[in-house]
Amino acid sequence: MVSKEMYELGAKSSVIREIFEYGKMRAAEIGRENVFDYSLGNPSVPAPESVNEAIRELTLSMDSCELHGYTSAVGDNETRQAIADNLNERFGTHFSMRNFYMTAGAAASLCITFRALAEKDDEIIIFAPYFPEYKVFISSAGAKPVEVKCNADTLQIDLEAFEKAVTKNTKAVVVNSPNNPSGVVMNEETVRGLCDILRKKQKEYGREIFLVSDEPYRELVYGDVEVPYLTKYYDNTIVCYSYSKSLSLPGDRIGYILVPDEVSDFELVYKSVCGAGRALGYVCAPSLMQRVIKKCVGQTSDISVYKKNRDLLVDAFEKYGFSVARPDGAFYLFMRSPEADATAFCEKAKKYDLLLVPSDSFGFPGYVRLAYCVSTDMIKRSLPSFERLAKEYNL
Ligand code: PLP
Repeated sequence: MVSKEMYELGAKSSVIREIFEYGKMRAAEIGRENVFDYSLGNPSVPAPESVNEAIRELTLSMDSCELHGYTSAVGDNETRQAIADNLNERFGTHFSMRNFYMTAGAAASLCITFRALAEKDDEIIIFAPYFPEYKVFISSAGAKPVEVKCNADTLQIDLEAFEKAVTKNTKAVVVNSPNNPSGVVMNEETVRGLCDILRKKQKEYGREIFLVSDEPYRELVYGDVEVPYLTKYYDNTIVCYSYSKSLSLPGDRIGYILVPDEVSDFELVYKSVCGAGRALGYVCAPSLMQRVIKKCVGQTSDISVYKKNRDLLVDAFEKYGFSVARPDGAFYLFMRSPEADATAFCEKAKKYDLLLVPSDSFGFPGYVRLAYCVSTDMIKRSLPSFERLAKEYNL
């Protein structure tokens, strides 16, 4: 009567969502201030005031039917050009509006891109730990997700393991830097190594292998860390971007796909992106938001709060004896679980109303993820509970 595959996806919610729902239930029982919920990557810093100003100005100055009406399927020309100009200024690239397809966020960008690229028997490589929805998006585009584990010490891509995983069926490779869930920024050496392997394998198999760069956290880096712009390292790169995190607009669903001119057969790939957008019903991204982006392109929310949160947690965890690195970006900590079974550790943490996500669904067992995009005050209040939890493990 219905699609079994879709039913199963809908009936089984993600582990992260389950923990978040548990947190809401617990808050109703014992009060919101007593639940320390580190489950969800929902920005805790508001969008900059310029976003609100842009919305006010647009609603006052533009004809309402035009403002809220359809834009062209690929997005508003002026918005796409404004994004191109901003990237060109920041990264020395030479994009123009024709390289962009506006979307309802990174999830839509990824689904469209996979659908545009995937043919029967195609494999798409993802690096563990990964954003769990990749597997859903890749499978529903008809391709097969292939997992490659990152180096356990650095959580950078293991280039040797990667090279072994590339086959004649590899159609694309997905990278995500800064990373969810590890917070790790891919260093330039790894980028160069990865791209060399991709070029070598393209030649060996005589077909294109696309590098899909999923980058909703691009601007969320702390200190003077550079996030290499991948289109400059490898021609067949497609960028999937979102304003959900950089501008704190996750509910407003706005992002884009960037197909550079350097991609082999640009017209073919860009038209396939348009076709996939059409097939999935992802045409004409939210109009008001497209126009807000035109006005606010290049800005971010006040991300200094995330750095403060990261440092507060890492300093405390080091003191308590937890094993955790200080990641350079995004707003996640990926902490080694003090017992092999991370789910059991998360259950123990729950006793202290600390809500953490076990890493199994990220394809990298033995760790927990903490989303530190929460109030600094909540972090401070939660620290005594983390200390008690550490004592329970004699750390
Ligand atoms: N990719 C990664 C790595 C993410 O962490 C997320 C959301 O958390 C997404 C994609 C989806 O982002 P969006 O809200 O823009 O659809």
